[in-house]
Amino acid sequence: MNFDDYRGTWVFMEVKDGAIASVSLELLGAGRQLADKRSSELAGVLIGDGVTSLAQEVIEYGADVVYVYDAPIYKHYRTETYMKALLACVEKFKPEILLYGATSTGKDLASAVATDLPTGLTADTTQLDVEEDTGLLLASRPAFGGNIMATILCKKYRPQMATVRPKVVRALPRDKERTGVIFEESIPIHEDDIRTKVLEIVRNTIQTVRISEADIIVSGGKGMGSAAGFQLIHKLAEVLGGAVGASRDVVEAGWVGHHHQVGQTGVTVTPKIYFAIGISGAIQHIVGMQNSGLIIAINKDPNALIFQSCHYGIVGDAFEIIPLLIEQFRGALG
Ligand code: FAD
Repeated sequence: MNFDDYRGTWVFMEVKDGAIASVSLELLGAGRQLADKRSSELAGVLIGDGVTSLAQEVIEYGADVVYVYDAPIYKHYRTETYMKALLACVEKFKPEILLYGATSTGKDLASAVATDLPTGLTADTTQLDVEEDTGLLLASRPAFGGNIMATILCKKYRPQMATVRPKVVRALPRDKERTGVIFEESIPIHEDDIRTKVLEIVRNTIQTVRISEADIIVSGGKGMGSAAGFQLIHKLAEVLGGAVGASRDVVEAGWVGHHHQVGQTGVTVTPKIYFAIGISGAIQHIVGMQNSGLIIAINKDPNALIFQSCHYGIVGDAFEIIPLLIEQFRGALG
């Protein structure tokens, strides 16, 4: 394998309901830094039906080049069709680095592509860097239950691939003046050759907690005392139209599911407002929420560590303060 043939950083641009997923825009921000360090191009790969109109947006968020596979066969995400298009693109244009959002689609596609290409895949990365001279991607992620950060290298093969968790890197501000090159690509692909058929899309009508996307998160810790006490966190979140977060100890106690967990071994969040209630402020929790816009902590211990990481702190009993907040917010928000 001649490494000199492989140039540039690519991002697989995930599209949902006609819009580019926020994680893909974030990856363009991270990819821009990698590409600049290597003095190479940043490209986005858009696959879908009617996605050509999104190519300019990919450029405005930092890409120099966009490869577009636009055809009705790509209307719904299917591993086989997207994998065929992406593999063809990789074979033709040979990227040095290929990044995907660590979403269900990104993870599915990346692992499928990795089984076909003679290369590896670092999953669930939380930090990215590149060695300027060698082009080695330094893909870091928590390992051994979050006890260490492992930096994983792919020394012998190209492209170097990684899935990256949402919200761990930042998108660049959109620049409507940016220009770039759009390649409209196609491959011979026929519906009859594809084994998976999408018969119907059934939308999940049960409201799921998406703390990674929420603008307001109300998080509760062991200070809420019990599963019944934790219900107050749900009530405050409901009044504010926010999502419910939790510390790991709460999740381990079984008061809420793991998808609510914020922190090193949970989800990284950056809401506009983050409430940390009855949470001590252990570093493993802080790393998952420290980039929130406004952090408000409530804790009855004035020396709790959480007060070192918040913008506003209220020293007091959560069971007295939350009902007052609910009352005030109900009044103010109607
Ligand atoms: P506690 O530490 O028990 O704190 C409870 C707090 O509530 C105290 O500060 C107390 O003063 C306050 N309190 C009590 N009663 C009241 C009341 N009535 N009103 C107001 N305040 C009250 N943790 C995470 O959260 N996320 C992670 O992803 C994570 N990953 C980890 C990974 C590893 C490898 C390890 C070793 C640990 C990890 N942890 C994680 C656990 C972390 O170290 C802490 O143990 C955990 O965050 C503590 O949870 P807590 O703050 O809810 O509980």
